[in-house]
Amino acid sequence: MLYKTTGIVIKTFPYREADMIVRIFSLKKGKMDMLAKGTKKIKSKLAATVQPFTYGEYTFYQKNYNLAVLRQSEIIANYKNIISDLKLTFMGYYICEFIDYFLQENQGHPRFFALTVKTLEFINNFPDQSHAIFTAFKIKGISLMGFTPTLTNCIKCGFKDENLKFIFSVKEGGLLCSKCVPENNLFLPKKEILLLLFLLKSTYEEILKVNLTSEQLKTVESIIGKYINYHCEGHVFNSEGLLKKLT
Ligand SMILES: [Zn+2]
Repeated sequence: MLYKTTGIVIKTFPYREADMIVRIFSLKKGKMDMLAKGTKKIKSKLAATVQPFTYGEYTFYQKNYNLAVLRQSEIIANYKNIISDLKLTFMGYYICEFIDYFLQENQGHPRFFALTVKTLEFINNFPDQSHAIFTAFKIKGISLMGFTPTLTNCIKCGFKDENLKFIFSVKEGGLLCSKCVPENNLFLPKKEILLLLFLLKSTYEEILKVNLTSEQLKTVESIIGKYINYHCEGHVFNSEGLLKKLT
């Protein structure tokens, strides 16, 4: 049967002499692989549409659960800045690796799909603020995967403290108050808790207005990173190391 879906190319593998397997995060079927015939040939019309980070419309043939074969494709958007700027490219790779790790095959996730498109668009269109968008993507993304951190009260006893004297526990999935923390821990500064909440709850448009500096973002980046790593169970994203080398 012929199907049509919008999707984002997250990975490609060479296949046989002239073909490629293209991994797409599709709106309708979630993560899926497609055989793109002849895309390694110079004259291929499909080739431009199956490059990583391309957002396009893909028509494919699939019989039962066999490998889908790409028939036709059209570009909706390709993100030129992401492709040409190394730092933005690595951010894009991180998003693709995140999708590849957390999403299941043949299971659509429209909210995460919308977040991905919006993130690529904003990183591409506002390179100067890409750090803020990228950091916000991480906390929004891990939340949409079912791991929303508790940031307004103690996750164990529910205690709310106006002075926000809490630590962040990656294992418990959010804030712990001084009574629930077994030992003397360093409390997370109030402004860091508020920044985490802001990045989680605000739209990218709202985030752009604030002009967050890299220094501000770095204060919460390691918490978000550790929190995601905890849910990755030892899996390492290659792009993370590449991004660190750039900074
Ligand atoms: Zn507590």
